Amino acid sequence: MQQIASLIRDVPDFPKPGVMFRDITPLLADAGGFARCIDALAEPWQGSSVQAVCGIESRGFIFGAALAQKLHAGFVPLRKPNKLPPPVVSVDYQLEYGVDRLEARNDALRPGERVIIVDDVLATGGTLAAARELVLKLGAQLVGAGVVIELAALQGRSRWEHEGAPLHALLRY
Ligand code: 5GP
Repeated sequence: MQQIASLIRDVPDFPKPGVMFRDITPLLADAGGFARCIDALAEPWQGSSVQAVCGIESRGFIFGAALAQKLHAGFVPLRKPNKLPPPVVSVDYQLEYGVDRLEARNDALRPGERVIIVDDVLATGGTLAAARELVLKLGAQLVGAGVVIELAALQGRSRWEHEGAPLHALLRY
C-alpha cells in the first residue's frame, strides 16, 4: 500500500483555491503500481461471485475495467448525462453548486445480478450514493463498493451505508 500511496500526486489549490487534489495519473503510468492497485482492489471480492463491476465516469472506468477483468466479471459504465443512447435510467444528485446526474442503459444489469461499484476517490460521497441508487433502480444486487482513495475528513462514508454491502478503500487521507 506504501508503493501505491507514493504514486499519488498531491496538487494543492486544484481545481480551486484551498482544495488538495489527489492525482492518480502517476499510479496509472506505473506498470507495477497499477497492477498492485488492481490486485488490492480485487482482494476483498475474491470468492464473492461478483458478476458485474460498475465504474463511475471517468476515472472509475479505468480502475473498474481492469478490476472486472481480474474478477472475471462484466464491466458496466455509469455515465455522465447525455452520453448514452436511450432508453436510460438516471439518478440526479447534489453537487456543491448545482446538480449532476449518472445514467446507465435501462438493461445494463440483470435483475439480481451481483454488482460492485468502483471509483477512484470518495470525497463527500454524493457520487457513490447516486451510483448505488442507480444500481438498485436497475434491480441488481449490491455487493459493495471499492475506491482507491477515501478523503476521510469529508465523511463521505456516512452516505454509503447499505446493509451487507461493504465499502472498501485502499488509502485514506
Ligand atoms: P464526491 O461525490 O464523493 O464528493 O466526489 C467524488 C467524485 O469526485 C469522484 O468521481 C472523483 O473522481 C472526484 N474527485 C473528488 N475529489 C477528487 C480528488 O482529489 N482527486 C480525484 N482524482 N478525483 C476527485
